[in-house]
Amino acid sequence: TAKEGGRGQAVTFTANLDNDRLMAAELEDRLRRALERGEIQVAYQPLFDAQAGRVVGVEALAQWVPITGRVSPEIFIPIAERSGLIDQLGMQVLKTAIEQAQKWKTLALSVNVSPIQLRNPNFPADVIRLLDKTGFDPHRLTLEITEGVLMSNPDQARRAIEALRNIGVKFALDDFGCGYASIGALRTFGFDRMKIDRSLVSGLKNREGSEVLTATISLAHALNIPVTAEGVETPEQMAALKQTGCDQLQGFLLGRPMSGADIAALVRSSAA
Ligand code: C2E
Ligand code: MG
Ligand code: MG
Ligand code: MG
Repeated sequence: TAKEGGRGQAVTFTANLDNDRLMAAELEDRLRRALERGEIQVAYQPLFDAQAGRVVGVEALAQWVPITGRVSPEIFIPIAERSGLIDQLGMQVLKTAIEQAQKWKTLALSVNVSPIQLRNPNFPADVIRLLDKTGFDPHRLTLEITEGVLMSNPDQARRAIEALRNIGVKFALDDFGCGYASIGALRTFGFDRMKIDRSLVSGLKNREGSEVLTATISLAHALNIPVTAEGVETPEQMAALKQTGCDQLQGFLLGRPMSGADIAALVRSSAA
């Protein structure tokens, strides 16, 4: 038949496609089982006050380390988002992190929230119920979101943010300086904090990059919004950020994501 000629090609193409789908389906399956068994863990990366140099909070980061080797959140978060597992995963991370942070008394807690979670009409009520049940002070909690969320369904997002801000939960605009993040979003949604993406921080090595960073921090401050710099890896970056008046620092130079027990030890040693 006429189709016969292109058959070899079509078969290869289909095989690759099937392979990708199979891999994603396989990972989704494993992720679902990992969630059921409580195998998604949470690591905590310390957040430092830039001037005092003290640990003032932590960011909770989901970790999945099956025996076959660590899977990056950059891989499993999108799979969770596409498969509808993200609501369960997100609430599980939030619950684990809150229970851990309660032991620290004063440290602030930041938790990442996916666009998909924010679009779920039950989200604010679920968070409020968890806060009520655990007795965790809402003022200690910051939810980190990227702007993609807000663009796709701004009214729903605004309502969810408003409901949670009303009880004292704070919101940080994550990864500012990469992708969509804009000044408009900072104002429209009433963000309490800006997190500068590590791509902007690594740009500090040239003059143009350092001017962009300084301008970004000034801009946030003009709007009365404190700034956290992500991905601080070198003493030079740390010095430059302190000088521009950046409020909080986060990065491998100061502390990698670690266990709750290691955070407690870090706090003890930084207080001493
Ligand atoms: P993020 O929220 O921007 O988190 C910061 C990421 O940068 C973390 O990667 C952290 O390990 C990494 N990082 C911190 N300091 C440095 C540094 O100095 N150098 C470098 N090269 N990297 C640094 P991680 O844990 O792989 O997480 C990646 C992303 O996955 C997060 O980016 C966040 O968007 C997402 N994610 C992680 N956990 C969750 C979660 O529980 N829920 C949701 N929705 N997303 C999550
Ligand atoms: Mg974050
Ligand atoms: Mg970030
Ligand atoms: Mg990021």
